[in-house]
Amino acid sequence: MKIIRSKAELRAMTEDWRRAGDSIGVVPTMGALHAGHLSLVEAACAATDRVIVTLFVNPKQFNNPEDLAKYPRTEESDAEKLTPYGADVLYVPDGAQMYPEGFATTISVSGVSDGLCGATRPGHFDGVATVVTKLLLQTDADQAFFGEKDYQQLQVVRRIAEDLDLKTRIIGCPTIRESDGLAMSSRNLRLDDRARATAPVIREALSRAAIEIREGVSVETALQSARSRLTDAGMGEIDYLEFRGDPDLAILSTADRPGRIFVAAWLDGVRLIDNVPVHEASQHERRLEPAD
Ligand code: AMP
Repeated sequence: MKIIRSKAELRAMTEDWRRAGDSIGVVPTMGALHAGHLSLVEAACAATDRVIVTLFVNPKQFNNPEDLAKYPRTEESDAEKLTPYGADVLYVPDGAQMYPEGFATTISVSGVSDGLCGATRPGHFDGVATVVTKLLLQTDADQAFFGEKDYQQLQVVRRIAEDLDLKTRIIGCPTIRESDGLAMSSRNLRLDDRARATAPVIREALSRAAIEIREGVSVETALQSARSRLTDAGMGEIDYLEFRGDPDLAILSTADRPGRIFVAAWLDGVRLIDNVPVHEASQHERRLEPAD
């Protein structure tokens, strides 16, 4: 796997690939790679001839400078983790490559980016939309792979590709979880042992609420008991806990069409997010559901 740091070198590489008739896949990441990221790399390697993994901790998508400063940066071990997967390039641009002197353009998506993380992290999705658009163009990708763990981000990226007539197909991949159900995240590294033991309640509470809504409990009641479950287990402030339509992410007060439950909550100074579908039961939910 070649490590490339400049746009010019990346362009030369993708042009070579194009001449050879190869298709290109891209997996955008901010590094501190875990099995969730690696599942995207695996999907990309299975779908396209050439795969570029990008590693860029994008300052424009952090609304909190402390969060940006604390974000783990582990390029060397990330490169090692990727080695067995067969990605062709690890693209690691620096700030000057991405946002050179005079940079003045922002991509802003309305609708799907308004609520949830868009409401609680002002400017976040403008930063995501801008960097992802640049990465899709820089890598000349036919397909780009994103995790459902960041479901709102996935819908924002789908919107951009559609609205800006990008040729890149956006592929959503399932959330990879620890064995106790906690969604894998680079931020989990910042939880101390006690907080790490509490964190699986997030998925537990969402799954229970999904089952309750499927069984006919009102959305309001199901979300209220999920909120109590989180608070009773020791979770801190809840930024949002909402049932939203899929894929438009409109707020739903009844389960009359497919939707997902979304949460962002704080634990030990770390903000964790997760989401589960309500209408298709996950394996975990099927285990929790009473047998007929
Ligand atoms: P990040 O490095 O956190 O910006 O994430 C890079 C990509 O990996 C995004 O498309 C995320 O949605 C995806 N991702 C992060 N965590 C997971 C996970 N647990 N399962 C699947 N995809 C994930």
